[in-house]
Amino acid sequence: MDMKDFFNISDKLIKISKDVENSIKSIFHRVDSVKEYNTYKVLRAFHANKVSESHFHSSTGYGYGDIGRDVIDRLYAAVFDAQDAIVRPHIVSGTHAIALCLYGVLRPGDELISITGKPYDTLEDVIGISNKDNRGSLRDFGISYKQVDLIDGKVNYEGIKDAITSKTKMVLIQRSKGYNWRPSLDIRQIQQLIKYVKGIKSDVICFVDNCYGEFVEEKEPTSVGADIMAGSLIKNPGGGLARSGGYIAGKKEYVEMAAYRLTTPGTGRKVGSSLGTNREIIQGLFFAPHVVAEALKSAIFASKLFDTLGFEVNPEWNEPRTDIIQIIKLGSKERLISFCQGLQKGSPIDSFVLPEPWNMPGYNEEIIMAAGTFVQGSSIELSADAPLIDPYCVYLQGGLIYEQAKVGILHGVQELLDKKLLYLPE
Ligand SMILES: *Cc1c(COP(=O)(O)O)cnc(C)c1O
Repeated sequence: MDMKDFFNISDKLIKISKDVENSIKSIFHRVDSVKEYNTYKVLRAFHANKVSESHFHSSTGYGYGDIGRDVIDRLYAAVFDAQDAIVRPHIVSGTHAIALCLYGVLRPGDELISITGKPYDTLEDVIGISNKDNRGSLRDFGISYKQVDLIDGKVNYEGIKDAITSKTKMVLIQRSKGYNWRPSLDIRQIQQLIKYVKGIKSDVICFVDNCYGEFVEEKEPTSVGADIMAGSLIKNPGGGLARSGGYIAGKKEYVEMAAYRLTTPGTGRKVGSSLGTNREIIQGLFFAPHVVAEALKSAIFASKLFDTLGFEVNPEWNEPRTDIIQIIKLGSKERLISFCQGLQKGSPIDSFVLPEPWNMPGYNEEIIMAAGTFVQGSSIELSADAPLIDPYCVYLQGGLIYEQAKVGILHGVQELLDKKLLYLPE
């Protein structure tokens, strides 16, 4: 059996790919050991919460007595070592889940400080720091904002101490790098940072944007002191099966405030029909540690492959990881577009479609996205996206199945070879 019997990948590239795979085996063992731990953690939560077939049934209307919905909340709380959690298909994205935490907990006159630099692009409109009219933003509601930038990709501890005042109600910590060339913050660093912030002002609420981080390590931010965190179900914790949704986990009081914002004060989490999504959300969580491991292996493969081909990558193939993002500095617009188009050709869905750059809502620059996915925009599935700006880095993530992700990534490289934008070393 050989890949070339199935796909148009050059012999030379397949040979390089095999060498790459041989050299990354020890790192795969590391990934497998975290996968095993997290699989046990999830399974134990299923046992403790007596998950049963009856939880897969659906509700309608108000969704009163939707026991599947309620067990999902308890499962997430248990798995994330949190007091409480709310998980809903009605949370439309990670941005929405994050916004619910911010609007739910902050009040006029409060101050929010992002202590890990500029937050994820889509939060600029939420906070009110984009160049748009800011209607409905936190700023519009009288919530002020400050930002402590990273210095050479590292947290500026002194700057944080200077920034926190009596008005500071919440700090925002972003675990994953997002569209930035910086190291992501691992759980140990998040723990240290939270401890530091609480040492300056003990009642500051520590919020973590946990997007792309779930199940990459053995602990989550709420295991190490985060008061509240949020993420998307079409990323890691949905395990590739959830068709939509987001989660919020943390202290009971704050999760409830976010739930009041999601529905209404009074009804909060008690309403909301799950509309037949319970089974996929429960099964997705069950799959998540495994699927995240597949995505990590895909990222490690891409990192080592592009390193071998002479490109700068972040993280390096053998560096510890805390999210599933792999950045590759492609160095030219042509290479960026071609790589994304090639990767799309190796996707299970829409393999015949040619992705083009476009002005995506919520983002400032033109973005190109390759996503041949079962769930639209799902980035736990193999996907590549990038803003069209110098130095033309591509952000690669996901891979439900490592073998497919490998084929997708090699199609991306083959496209560069075919267009003479890359030459293989002799
Ligand atoms: C994906 C992501 C978000 C939210 O994105 P959505 O597309 O709204 O789900 C927020 N922060 C980070 C770091 C992310 O990676």
